[in-house]
Amino acid sequence: MKNCIFCKIIKGRTNEGFAYEDNDLVVFNDIAPIAPIHLLIIPKKHIEGIQAVEKEDGRILGKMLLIARKIADKRKLKGYKLFINCGKLAGQKVFHLHLHLVGGWKNSKEYRKLTLGKRW
Ligand code: AMP
Ligand code: ZN
Repeated sequence: MKNCIFCKIIKGRTNEGFAYEDNDLVVFNDIAPIAPIHLLIIPKKHIEGIQAVEKEDGRILGKMLLIARKIADKRKLKGYKLFINCGKLAGQKVFHLHLHLVGGWKNSKEYRKLTLGKRW
């Protein structure tokens, strides 16, 4: 989709620029992290958000969660958050579906300081 920042990133980056890539998805660092680890898990297909998914997108939605879990396991995250902002009122700013994966805090004090109450 023209003028979509995430479509541009998907087209423009090399493999080395992504934390993960396959035929359906890419994963890269959020430009404004709210935790020591803040990744975005994004379908290559331009879908505006959860509000726009079709029945046929079910497989990709499931895969987004599974890949998030896989990355969290690989990075040995003990606790993490997965969230999707659905619509402008809920804080969605980029209208290309993305799942936030945030974590990597050393302890609950760091979690409260860096992340609690921010952007969801
Ligand atoms: P949302 O508010 O759920 O739509 O989240 C959009 C996220 O995309 C925010 O956390 C932004 O920091 C992030 N973001 C925006 N532009 C870029 C970019 N060029 N590269 C990486 N992350 C971005
Ligand atoms: Zn897009």
